[in-house]
Amino acid sequence: MVKSDGERPARRPATRLTRAGREKSITGPFVNPPVVHASTVLFDSVDDMLGGRQRYVYGRRGTPTLEALETAIAELEGAEGTVLCPSGLNAAATALLACLASGDHVLVTDNVYEPIRRLLDRTLAPLGIVATYFDPSIAGSIRTLFRSNTRAVYVESPGSLTFEMQDIPAIAAAAAERDILVIADNTWATPLHFSALKHGADVSVISATKHIGGHSDVMLGLVSAGERAWEAVKRTHSDLGLCAGPDDIYMTLRGLRTLAVRLERSAASGERIARWLAGRREVARVLFPVLETDPGHTLWRRDMTGACGLFGVVFAGWSEKRAKAFIDALTLFGIGASWGGFESLAILARPEKIRTAVPWRAEGPLVRLYIGLEDPDDLIADLDNAFARTANME
Ligand SMILES: *Cc1c(COP(=O)(O)O)cnc(C)c1O
Repeated sequence: MVKSDGERPARRPATRLTRAGREKSITGPFVNPPVVHASTVLFDSVDDMLGGRQRYVYGRRGTPTLEALETAIAELEGAEGTVLCPSGLNAAATALLACLASGDHVLVTDNVYEPIRRLLDRTLAPLGIVATYFDPSIAGSIRTLFRSNTRAVYVESPGSLTFEMQDIPAIAAAAAERDILVIADNTWATPLHFSALKHGADVSVISATKHIGGHSDVMLGLVSAGERAWEAVKRTHSDLGLCAGPDDIYMTLRGLRTLAVRLERSAASGERIARWLAGRREVARVLFPVLETDPGHTLWRRDMTGACGLFGVVFAGWSEKRAKAFIDALTLFGIGASWGGFESLAILARPEKIRTAVPWRAEGPLVRLYIGLEDPDDLIADLDNAFARTANME
């Protein structure tokens, strides 16, 4: 935790991004920490090794590189502590295993990142952990779904495919009455725009692969926890032997320093392009809580201080074939998984094949766009061209 700022007034998030995790005890006189590649750590004597007083004991258990990122994220999340995982999916798995044991029940938002659903249904179910899925708009009524063995609620707000906001404070208040832990996937907003723990979550999970890494060259996950869950998160992470590679940690830390400017550009271009799309007659809806017309707009305004450039577009009455041709006609949008890098991306999303709590109903196919750091006028021209090239299709 960064204590070096002493009694000075609290600094704003963009400033904190440039300073967090930079204690002299970690980085020495350098601006950035060394990239330490290490397994073995040497001791001066057997007694030193047995004494447990040495700061570094084994590569997996801590290096200056690892400490710099853990400390930075814990400070930004306002957490007791943070652990680093080899991917965002693994971070979610770590959070779930920390909060749940055999015989427990977990409530999961129906818009959850799909691989987490597979983890629950295929791998954790046989271990005796039962997951049921809830309507993302449930808010405080989640109480009605609590069972005697419910131990955790998993939220993702907004969902990264369908963008429904969840009322996390209302869900957390209901959960707290029953000592149920709340895990929040905070990948979309990042700690810069949403303080998951301050809004009642016990654990914040982030895929740093996305915005924090920011350059499509790193896989890394973060789990940060408040008081109620930190010991369990730390223990689970340690018992599973998880660690991230030093180069990936370094690149994530490097990305973190420029997160505020990248996110600002992506969000501003995203909003402009989302409004342009919302005005097209081919578009039935744009799924983006930043827009006043979005059902999640009030919650987004209330709880978050900003956005990113990831949103969905529902095309009015188009065939899936036309949506595919539209994506194929784009030249500045890559076709591929992930988001949060400098380059724009487009994918065809099929939530109707995933949902179990509430069937997905839409006026046509859903395309998810990620708006990167290109000039938004070029992106609009590219989208306009794709509309023109597919204009005669059904
Ligand atoms: C990508 C993603 C994950 C998983 O992260 P990886 O680093 O790809 O394993 C989890 N949650 C959300 C919302 C994501 O977008």
